[in-house]
Amino acid sequence: MIIRKSKQEIEGMARAGELVHETLQLVAEQLEPGVTMLELDRIADEHIVSKGGIPTSKGYKGFPAALCISPNSMVVHGIPNEYRAQEGDLISVDLGVTLDGLVADSAVTLPVGEISAVAQRLLAVCQDALAAGIEQAQSGNHLSDISHAVQLVVEEAGFSVVRSLVGHGVGRSYHEDPQIPNWGPPGRGPVLQEGMTLAIEPMITAGRPEVYVHDDDWSISSVDESPAAHFEHTVAVTAEGPRILTKAGAALLR
Ligand code: MG
Repeated sequence: MIIRKSKQEIEGMARAGELVHETLQLVAEQLEPGVTMLELDRIADEHIVSKGGIPTSKGYKGFPAALCISPNSMVVHGIPNEYRAQEGDLISVDLGVTLDGLVADSAVTLPVGEISAVAQRLLAVCQDALAAGIEQAQSGNHLSDISHAVQLVVEEAGFSVVRSLVGHGVGRSYHEDPQIPNWGPPGRGPVLQEGMTLAIEPMITAGRPEVYVHDDDWSISSVDESPAAHFEHTVAVTAEGPRILTKAGAALLR
């Protein structure tokens, strides 16, 4: 069942989203060669708690940290560790924050120093795909219009959509209905209605789409070790069109 939110709940989610955005900005500022993933997680965790929020992923199904941090060929769900960022890395950072009982969820892939031309294009395409998906989050559209729009942008660029991972409803809890694949034909699935709040999140690779789960049962990486990118926003379907709840006016990369 897709839970539609009231205007008040959407405003509450936007406040959680502001804290998500602010925290991701803080992480982006601290990300430089030599910093460990654990340090980034601590900075994020402390900031969220200082603002009265709760890092939603911490303790979620046993996940140990505030941030999911996934370097290079890791697509999602990386557990922050002693790995030190290196020049040329792509670091995907995914963050959910609960504030006053409402959740917002967002992810960015951040470059460390100079990155390759392919990596630059991968980041640009993933952001374009997210924007195309968000554009379809309109009352009266079908859910899979989002999926299809994302897929078109990614595959026209010659990259791959990870098919086994999906976006999701979000708000009263971290993961709600519906699941939102990043591929498939348009015009399928539920009709979108005002008050639906969706975490739209293309997860893409520069190579093949197959992924595997590491021995920690969390981290997911591309099988061919090609670099991955992940951008995510929490979006509300409103009478005025899609409203991004995790952006607060400023993009992190451009
Ligand atoms: Mg997320």
